Amino acid sequence: MAGAIVKTLAVALLALTFGAAVRAQDTPVPIAVAPGVWMVQGSSALGSSANRNFISNAGFVVTDEGVVVIDALGSPALAEELLEQIRRITTKPVRWVIVTHYHADHIYGLQTFKGAGASVIAQRAAGAYLNSETAQQRLKASRDELFPWIDEHTRLVPADRWIDGAQTLSLGGMDFQLQPVGPSHTPEDLVVYVPALRTLFAGDLVFRGRVPFVGQADSGHWISALDALLAYDIDVVVPGHGPASSTARADLQLTRDYLAHLRKTMGDAARNMEPFEEAYAKADWSRFDKLPLFKAANRINAYNTYLLMEHESR
Ligand SMILES: [Zn+2]
Repeated sequence: MAGAIVKTLAVALLALTFGAAVRAQDTPVPIAVAPGVWMVQGSSALGSSANRNFISNAGFVVTDEGVVVIDALGSPALAEELLEQIRRITTKPVRWVIVTHYHADHIYGLQTFKGAGASVIAQRAAGAYLNSETAQQRLKASRDELFPWIDEHTRLVPADRWIDGAQTLSLGGMDFQLQPVGPSHTPEDLVVYVPALRTLFAGDLVFRGRVPFVGQADSGHWISALDALLAYDIDVVVPGHGPASSTARADLQLTRDYLAHLRKTMGDAARNMEPFEEAYAKADWSRFDKLPLFKAANRINAYNTYLLMEHESR
């Protein structure tokens, strides 16, 4: 009993400590990017208790019949704040949350939107991930690493509506083109294009102003997906991380070129059976090494690509 009280007190204290430490830039504040379109921008950092996992973006589009949210942010508390911000802009309800992919920083806020009556829409390939041991392990680790923002009440929320192929959904006279583009960054990558506003919500297919997190991505397919997106008529890209862009082509191109560079340098090394360390040391990273998170992400990106290219060259 006493132990339980001590634990409750400790939790309250921790919440207070981290609550007090929340900085202005760690609070979702809507930025208008097109008529009726807003985004909130997470910081270029790794998820932590201090930033409440506010390291990814979310977007929303206000239509005559309700609001469409794209991605749910990295903790229920952030999603709650985003919902409050949306309510300051419109009295219309959030009808849908479209998930670009099920990485932790984009989905831990889903339960908040679901609780507020929104339907969750995602690409069907996410189902396999949600049922996997990996997803459970990830959540378990997050409950430690991101405590108290992620705790035993945080859960994984499957879609109410699964998307199989390209599909256009309409709300309040606004078309939303949902285009599956996985497996690229993840198997379930989905981008959302609003043709009336020439706005693309690109999820983690496009990283702006930072080195992408490549992980176990299928970079070959990712490059083809970016090539397909380069054909769209786009004024604004809202990426999964970093600021919105009105230089869509350059951003798509940068992500594309980075992936191509990884595949070229690591592919050559893998084919020549050159050890990773040597290949990494002699590769020319000068075009990318000034980008944020280069130090944190490039080496592991290169290593994962080396393994992928070894596998592909077999
Ligand atoms: Zn992300």
